[in-house]
Amino acid sequence: MKLETNHATRAERAAYLAGALEGLYSGEAVPAATIGGRRAAIARLRQFDVTRYGTTRNHVTKRGISFLSPYIRHGVLALAEIRDYILTRFGAGRDTTKYINELAWRQFWQLVYAEYGNRIHQDIEPPKVPRNGTRRSLPDDILQATTGLVCMDESLRELYREGYMHNHARMWFAAYLQHWRGEDWRDGAELFYTHLLDGDPASNSLSWQWVGSTFSHKPYYFNRQNVEKFSDGEYCKRCPLASGGCPFDATYEQLARDLFGMSQEELEQGGQRRGQQSRR
Ligand SMILES: Cc1cc2nc3c(=O)[nH]c(=O)nc-3n(C[C@H](O)[C@H](O)[C@H](O)COP(=O)(O)OP(=O)(O)OC[C@H]3O[C@@H](n4cnc5c(N)ncnc54)[C@H](O)[C@@H]3O)c2cc1C
Repeated sequence: MKLETNHATRAERAAYLAGALEGLYSGEAVPAATIGGRRAAIARLRQFDVTRYGTTRNHVTKRGISFLSPYIRHGVLALAEIRDYILTRFGAGRDTTKYINELAWRQFWQLVYAEYGNRIHQDIEPPKVPRNGTRRSLPDDILQATTGLVCMDESLRELYREGYMHNHARMWFAAYLQHWRGEDWRDGAELFYTHLLDGDPASNSLSWQWVGSTFSHKPYYFNRQNVEKFSDGEYCKRCPLASGGCPFDATYEQLARDLFGMSQEELEQGGQRRGQQSRR
């Protein structure tokens, strides 16, 4: 099929791309997520089935995700071509929309970076919760993945070994490090940036700030129930702290009070920004 690029509609361009990808590399074994150039990236894209995305993307063990981030980060695949390919192959629908939304988050972070420049590596807004963290080197148990919490240690080991961490695990870890351990988000962001194969200044620093509440109206935090739900209980089953001493084993209301000294409702309303000055 030949494409008259000057006159092609978007649908024609997408169909052309899908056809070209279909013809390319068919039957080829898909390599590991992060090796190879464009050929490997296309194989990875072709392997991805978006129809499981909405229900499994948050699931750290089911992982219905695309693993395309290193290729996107390093310019091997463009967001628009991924969007067009997915739309053409799977059609519009809930899962496709969800996936394109995530591509849009990446683009949004890039646009913020373009606007703010290196200011994204410092607090963009004041934190909405009390904060104790000062910059220093991270504690050994983080660097060695020996916190004793299976949900943290396994994710850290994957980061150090594979250069990857699942999005939900990134959120858990970023929250743990900032809210439970009181570390400065910039030290966590540096750790990620050092190890992630998709390490990206904008997605990384701005996501850390979103978790910490310096680029969102409230902090992100989680509890044990959330870990159990999105890991099918796998981590807790093997965790020595599951039967006592798990720092996440509480309701959201209790954690809001323990971690931030305010109620969930106060957090929702923007916490400290609206005059709450309570300390941990
Ligand atoms: C604390 C923290 C740090 C992060 N640091 C980075 C980073 O350095 N580089 C990076 O590329 N992503 C980062 N992310 C976003 C996200 O975790 C990864 O993009 C995603 O896990 C990559 O895996 P995937 O390609 O299988 O994602 P999929 O779920 O298959 O998503 C497809 C693509 O959409 C984009 N995307 C998905 N989720 C997000 C998200 N939450 N924010 C922005 N874009 C998203 C990515 O480009 C991704 O490749 C971070 C998230 C958090 C919470």
